[in-house]
Amino acid sequence: NSGECPPKIHRLSHSVVKRITAGDVIQHPLSAVKELIENSLDAHSTNINVIIQDGGFKLIQVNDNGHGVRYEDLAIMCGRHTTSKLLKFEELMRLKTMGFRGEALSSISHLGDVTVTTITQGSVHGYRVSYKDGAMEHEPKPCAAVKGTQVTVENLFCKMAGRKKALQNSYRDYKKIVDLVSRFALHHTNVSFSCRKYNANRPDVHTSVTSSRLDVIRSFYGIAVAGCLKEINVADSNPSPAVFEMQGFMSNATYAAKKMIMILFINDRLVEWSALQRAIEVVYTKKLHWASKPFVYISIVLPPGQIDVNMHATKKEACTKERESRSKKVPVHELVSTDSLDLAGSLHACG
Ligand code: ADP
Ligand code: MG
Repeated sequence: NSGECPPKIHRLSHSVVKRITAGDVIQHPLSAVKELIENSLDAHSTNINVIIQDGGFKLIQVNDNGHGVRYEDLAIMCGRHTTSKLLKFEELMRLKTMGFRGEALSSISHLGDVTVTTITQGSVHGYRVSYKDGAMEHEPKPCAAVKGTQVTVENLFCKMAGRKKALQNSYRDYKKIVDLVSRFALHHTNVSFSCRKYNANRPDVHTSVTSSRLDVIRSFYGIAVAGCLKEINVADSNPSPAVFEMQGFMSNATYAAKKMIMILFINDRLVEWSALQRAIEVVYTKKLHWASKPFVYISIVLPPGQIDVNMHATKKEACTKERESRSKKVPVHELVSTDSLDLAGSLHACG
């Protein structure tokens, strides 16, 4: 009916927008744990401890021994687009940190209750402050603190009852978090990690800086895996210096498993690359007589300017700059030309 009066267009209030979009950045307690661990790594921590209650829905606590947060920054720490990691857009090309968007803590604080306790070097005491919907609830209170930062997230998704109900499965949620922490521990062997359930005496993940990568694999994925691995070390040094380096471990022909495990880091970022995963799976299926699935841990290092870390809201995927300019979003799996990644060659070497 063309005579109908059209509805008026109005601007949504910031808090409504934030509540809607926060769920894109933080889709699950697992994404919150990942963001908090990455913040601890960005703060140069060498010790990161995670405590989880009710699969992360009730409580996520991440303690680190990193550089802490300045008192004067606490007011905006959970604010919209507030970051200490990026000033100019061009810096994205040389970015060394995992974070840069300044939206993780802001989003988390719109979905749950955040409390930060932090102390910086040389201070006699730390500060504790709670946040809701991106803002401090009160002035930071002086408190006793040990080196670093503790971020506590309580009641995540309690304002999104539908999402919480759809997602929640405590047992599986906690297992996923343990798996995530194990993956970080496996890659960052210079950092000690632990992860335990709230009130549990024993941690389910526990590594120390003296643990070797094989030790970590053995403790999480079992002796059977650790005994059947082939180390990979590939570098493309033409032109020099190397523009592509890949190292890691892949299971050999004696290893038998029903499910593929693929752990991939590109420039120290934990990412997913389903096409590579499928390609590796196919090569194994062709080479092995039985239907055994491989265990794969790969760390790839590329010049930072070659990847776009900004492609995906959760930063799970990235793409090459030149491809992006053709306005085609390319997941991380198309980053590496297939010839520099001599997959068949490295698998052949695995026997
Ligand atoms: P981003 O990591 O993209 O900068 P976040 O919302 O995750 O954004 O964090 C905002 C800021 O809070 C960071 O830039 C950093 O300065 C500070 N911060 C967060 N977590 C920590 C931590 N564990 N230790 C020290 N500083 C932190
Ligand atoms: Mg961050």
